[in-house]
Amino acid sequence: MTLIKNDIYPNLEYFTADNIHSDKITAIFTTRNGGASGKTAETEFLHSLNLQINSSDDDYQNIAENYRIIAGSQGFKAENVMKVHQIHTDEIIVVDSNISNKGLAQNQNSISNHLGEADALVTNIKDILLSVRVADCVPILLYDNANGAIAAIHAGWQGTFRQIGAKTVRRMGELYGTKPNQTRAAIGPAAGICCYEVDLDFYEKFQQKYGEKINRFFCIEKSKKPFCDLKKMNKAFLLEAGIPETNIEVSELCTIDNPGLFYSHRRNGVKRGTMAAFIGMK
Ligand SMILES: [Zn+2]
Repeated sequence: MTLIKNDIYPNLEYFTADNIHSDKITAIFTTRNGGASGKTAETEFLHSLNLQINSSDDDYQNIAENYRIIAGSQGFKAENVMKVHQIHTDEIIVVDSNISNKGLAQNQNSISNHLGEADALVTNIKDILLSVRVADCVPILLYDNANGAIAAIHAGWQGTFRQIGAKTVRRMGELYGTKPNQTRAAIGPAAGICCYEVDLDFYEKFQQKYGEKINRFFCIEKSKKPFCDLKKMNKAFLLEAGIPETNIEVSELCTIDNPGLFYSHRRNGVKRGTMAAFIGMK
């Protein structure tokens, strides 16, 4: 992944998923830099590319401007940004011609508009920018070049537990004829095993469902709490779903210990902004 500093939008920084991103397709993970939020001392923690849609701390004008900046930087219209109300499930929303006009509207009442409750979006329609919001959770982008289909996925630990990534690949197969071995995947910046400490019952829950093979995604030392590698686990589930290793790119970066680049729920609790991942075909 490459950190892009955009010349047209001051201070805008985002990562491109280099195995997907091109002139014809946007596949990016935002940082916290280059937006309109957090201009006062009280709102400094939002500085500055906050993409949370239901923030009581930020003005809707700032959030709308931030979505305009991102969409504009990629040559898309802000009203074609699609988002969902994320609820830590494995639900998938299909953006078809019936709902492709329900993107981000630029007024106070509808900045928080979304297509429904879900944690993944798929489409085969061009000029639409699918988005999921994250602040430590794992963002995953999928691209099926052969059939012209894309997905954006929010995988927190619960979505990971339910293998939302693999489920989305299968759904793209049913809808668009997507074959896993022709699909590319990018796993963006998220909580790293360096910082993502979990409770023992969290580990046991995974172990109960997946058995001993899950141990390789945890760092367990005696008399310490386990640490979990959610990015690596999501990659493993995508491999199991049939995506070749050479088609999967994973960000090395941890959102928790990079405060200059990322918002982090683990680091700052609710006093934070939110990043997003975007994918769209032109
Ligand atoms: Zn870390």
